[in-house]
Amino acid sequence: MEMNFCPWCGEELATDQIDRRPRLGCTSETCEYVFWDNPTPVVAAITELKGNVVLVRNHGWRKKMFGLVTGFLEKGETPEQGVLREVNEELGLNGNIEGLVGHYSFFEMNQLILAFHVKAEGDITIGDELAEIKLISPEKLRPWSFGTGFAIKDWLENRQTENAK
Ligand SMILES: [Zn+2]
Repeated sequence: MEMNFCPWCGEELATDQIDRRPRLGCTSETCEYVFWDNPTPVVAAITELKGNVVLVRNHGWRKKMFGLVTGFLEKGETPEQGVLREVNEELGLNGNIEGLVGHYSFFEMNQLILAFHVKAEGDITIGDELAEIKLISPEKLRPWSFGTGFAIKDWLENRQTENAK
């Protein structure tokens, strides 16, 4: 994110040593604005529907690139509420949280992904954000090596351990 001017007072921003790191801060002596650039939490759902996992392709993603249902939290929302809302908005499904899969730092996007296993029921109605979806059995699901892919990897491994018991 490129920023040149202070959103509080309109003065120029400049990089300076602030709180042990180089950060963009306001150059006005009377303004204390600092662009902290903290990671943003993102919720992600491994959505299971009748034994299959639902993968989604957002508009603008290249063909054959599918991922999990993800989204930003709304103000006042817990991650659990947020992920179920996203599943409902994007897929038209009501879901239940089966568990937290884990949290994953996605440094390239400056995000912290909170991934949940969600069991859903009903018939899928694709939301506006999505170009298409596909259903895949967990046996055929292969994790990708960035972002939410690490959640898939952990979920599949845990699932195998559970099944082996
Ligand atoms: Zn300022």
